[in-house]
Amino acid sequence: MSGNLEKGVKKISRVYRMTNADASGSHFTIEPKEQLAAIKDMRASGIVPLGNFHSHPETPARPSAEDIRLARDPAASYVIISLAGENPVMRAFHIENGAASEEEIEISDG
Ligand SMILES: [Zn+2]
Repeated sequence: MSGNLEKGVKKISRVYRMTNADASGSHFTIEPKEQLAAIKDMRASGIVPLGNFHSHPETPARPSAEDIRLARDPAASYVIISLAGENPVMRAFHIENGAASEEEIEISDG
């Protein structure tokens, strides 16, 4: 997810869908080539990386122990979309020093 950061508010304007190199429903690894291509595109577009998202096909939209352990960027928003219920649930988290705190999400068309 990328866009602009103004006054502490992240405005996401572009989302890059990437292949899960693990081909798993419970683990994910981003393909390095796809990540590099996304970074090049961001630089060319004058936008910055703001975070990432992944789905939890069968569990709630909260970071797993592994999500927390692997979260290395406190500046990133970690968005999780749960597909476990009747309707998808999307939540965002700040993860730092082994702890996750929820971030507010606002969806707009502008
Ligand atoms: Zn997860």
